[in-house]
Amino acid sequence: MHKDNQPLIFEMTKEGRIGYSLPELDVPEIDLSSHLPNGYVREESAELPEVSELDIMRHYTALSNRNHGVDTGFYPLGSCTMKYNPKINEAVARFPGFANIHPLQDESTVQGAMEIMYDLQQHLSEITGMDEVTLQPAAGAHGEWTALMMIRAFHEANGEGNRTKVLVPDSAHGTNPASATVAGFDTVTIKTNESGLVDIEDLRAKVDENTAAFMLTNPNTLGLFERDVLEISEIVHGVGGKMYYDGANLNAIMAKVRPGDMGFDAVHLNLHKTFTGPHGGGGPGSGPVGVTTELAPFLPKPILVKKDDQYTFEYDRPQSIGRVKPFYGNFGIYLRAYTYIRSMGPDGLKAVTEYAVLNANYMMRKLESYFDLPYKQHCMHEFVLSGRRQKKLGVRTLDMAKRLLDFGFHPPTIYFPLNVEEGMMIEPTETESKETLDSFIDAMIQIAKEVDENPEIVQEAPHTTVINRLDETKAARQPVLRYVKEEELVNA
Ligand SMILES: *Cc1c(COP(=O)(O)O)cnc(C)c1O
Repeated sequence: MHKDNQPLIFEMTKEGRIGYSLPELDVPEIDLSSHLPNGYVREESAELPEVSELDIMRHYTALSNRNHGVDTGFYPLGSCTMKYNPKINEAVARFPGFANIHPLQDESTVQGAMEIMYDLQQHLSEITGMDEVTLQPAAGAHGEWTALMMIRAFHEANGEGNRTKVLVPDSAHGTNPASATVAGFDTVTIKTNESGLVDIEDLRAKVDENTAAFMLTNPNTLGLFERDVLEISEIVHGVGGKMYYDGANLNAIMAKVRPGDMGFDAVHLNLHKTFTGPHGGGGPGSGPVGVTTELAPFLPKPILVKKDDQYTFEYDRPQSIGRVKPFYGNFGIYLRAYTYIRSMGPDGLKAVTEYAVLNANYMMRKLESYFDLPYKQHCMHEFVLSGRRQKKLGVRTLDMAKRLLDFGFHPPTIYFPLNVEEGMMIEPTETESKETLDSFIDAMIQIAKEVDENPEIVQEAPHTTVINRLDETKAARQPVLRYVKEEELVNA
C-alpha cells in the first residue's frame, strides 16, 4: 500500500541482528514462570523485528518525516487552535531547576516552581476576569467536569439538589454534554437560530428552577460572537442557574473582553490551545478553571496560597470537591503557558486576538463565493463553510478534505458543528503569514474548480501521499493491523 521505497520495519529484519548491547548478566537468571500466574508466560517469543541501532534510527526518522504537524505545515483545524508553539517555551520547560524537581520534594525546596504556578493563576484570573483559579485539571474536558462538580456542590450546599439540568447549545463542542453527563446532570439542548446564535426564546422556554447551569462558548463553535450574552446571563441567573464559559479557544477575545465581565461564573481554559502548549499527540494538556468568589470554596484542594512571602498548599477546605489531579498537575505545560504570557505581555496578547480574527475573516471573504457560507456576518477566530453545493455534484466534504492533503495542508475540522451540513470549520490562527493564508485559499479555490470540471480527482484523493485513502470505518474498528507476510497474503 505504501508508495515510497521505505521498507517496513518487518521487512528489514535479519535473524540475530540486534540494536543494543548490554553487559553480561552478573546476577542469577530468574525463571519468570515461577513468579507469574499460570497462563501468563509466553510459550513462543514475540515476533519482533531484529534490526541494528542505525536501522531503527532511520526507520523512526523516516516515519517522523511523513508526519504533519504545526512545525511542518499549515494546520487550520477549527476549534483546535493549532498555532505555532514558540521554542523558547521548550527551552524554559527544560531548565534543570524545573525539569529535575520531584513532586514529593518538600515545599521549602520548590518555592520557585510554586511562585510560577501562583503567578500563572494570577495572570489567568486577570485574563478571564475570574476571582480564583485552579490549575489542577489535565485538559479542557476535565476542566469542564471540575467546574460542573463545583456548581453541583454549590447548589447542594444551598439546599438546591433539585438543580439537575445543564443547558447546552446544539452547536457546542461534544465535550460539553459529555462532561455534564459524567458530572451527573441531565443535558437539555438549546437551539441555534438562523443567525447561528443561541435561540433566546428556546432558552427562555427551557430554563427553570431545576437549571443548574448554562454552558456557553463565546464566540460559539460556529465562530460567531453571542451578542446577547448579557441578556442570556440575566435569564440564567434569573432562575438561579450558573453561567459556564467554555474557554478552550480564547484566541478571539483575549485582552479584549473577559468572561467575568460577560456574566460568567466559571470558566475553563486550554493552556494547550490558546497558550501555546503543544497538543494533538504532542504532549499532556492543561485545563485550568477560574471561578467567582461565590464558587471558590468548592475549588479542588489543595489551594496554592502565599503566606508571609512563602508559597504553600492549603488543605483545610471543608467544602472542596476534593483533588482532581495528583501532585501539581501538568507542571511542564504551566511553564510553557507562563513563558508565553510573559513574553507576549498584554499588548502582545491583544495583537494575537486581533490577528487571529483578521486572518479568519480574510480567509472567509476570499472563499465565500466558492463554497456555501451559512452565516454571513463577520466571524471571530474561525468560520464554518458548507460543502452543500459540492455535494450536489457528487463530491463530499470528506473528499475535499482528502484532496487538501495533495496540496500539503492538514484539512480543517469537518462535519462539525453538527448543525452545518457538510461543514468545514477553518481556524487559521494568528501565527500564519499572509503568504501561507493565500496559498491555502488558492488550494481551496482550485479544489472548488476541480469539483466542477473533474470531480474524480477529488473523489479519489489523496494522490500524492505515501498511502491512498484509508478505510475510515476499518481504521476506527481495527486500529492496529498485524503485519502480514507476503507468503500469507498469497495463501489467503
Ligand atoms: C478542544 C475543546 C474542548 C476540549 O478540550 P480537551 O483539552 O480536548 O479536553 C472543549 N471545548 C472546545 C470549544 C474545544 O475547542
